[in-house]
Amino acid sequence: MTEFKNSRDFLDQISRAAISAGFRERILGVVTPPDKSYPIIGLSKKMPSRAPRILIAAGIHGDEPSGPHAVLSLLETFPHEWPELSPYHVEIVPLINPTGFDRRQRTNWQGIDLNRSFGSASPPLEIRSLMNDYRRRKIDLFVDFHEDVDTPGFYLYELSPVESESFGAHIITVLRKNSLPVNASEIIEGMPAINGLILRTSRSVPRFFRKGAPQGLYMKKLGTVRTLTFETPTALPLEQRVSMHLLSLRTTLKHWKPGR
Ligand SMILES: [Zn+2]
Repeated sequence: MTEFKNSRDFLDQISRAAISAGFRERILGVVTPPDKSYPIIGLSKKMPSRAPRILIAAGIHGDEPSGPHAVLSLLETFPHEWPELSPYHVEIVPLINPTGFDRRQRTNWQGIDLNRSFGSASPPLEIRSLMNDYRRRKIDLFVDFHEDVDTPGFYLYELSPVESESFGAHIITVLRKNSLPVNASEIIEGMPAINGLILRTSRSVPRFFRKGAPQGLYMKKLGTVRTLTFETPTALPLEQRVSMHLLSLRTTLKHWKPGR
């Protein structure tokens, strides 16, 4: 797998893959630091019916390339290797933070952590563009691809309607079966975790905060019933992190029932 280091080259490749996979591309916004302009693009595969909607987001942290590359890999093998996505509207934002991607940094060019900016009073342009777009329709399932430089293994955040309907544990089981490492700590990022799963139900979600929230919580506020955030270990090779994201997505689709 080629690792792209430049957002323009990466987005050119994404566009080519998206067009041959039958996705429509839209520019959601344009970030304009002094050096050049960076488009934020959104991709969608339309269904004729009132099919449930899945949103996949990647690259909100610029130093986490596995998410954008997982999306690219998905598009390059779509639709023949992804029959489980065929009943749904699929929407993808492949690179939310292009300026951070080019600078190999978590934040955007202004030093703002975009994943703490949803719903704030004056969000940065990247997030304002997404918020304007997401408000127009209800997303049923939201999946967010990340990575973590400190973790020895995979973990995930799941926001599930009720605890008994969580399927994060299935994702962990599948990863372990494929000999992929899981973070088994009882506390991850200051939160209680069980076998790599940080689970919150609708009742246990913290109150929305005015300063700005991560995207998962914002989607919940807009009515998304289930959100999943995958964290892959940066220490592993890119191919393995990409496989972890895609295997986790596949397992999600196997267990997810629209509306739950
Ligand atoms: Zn991240």
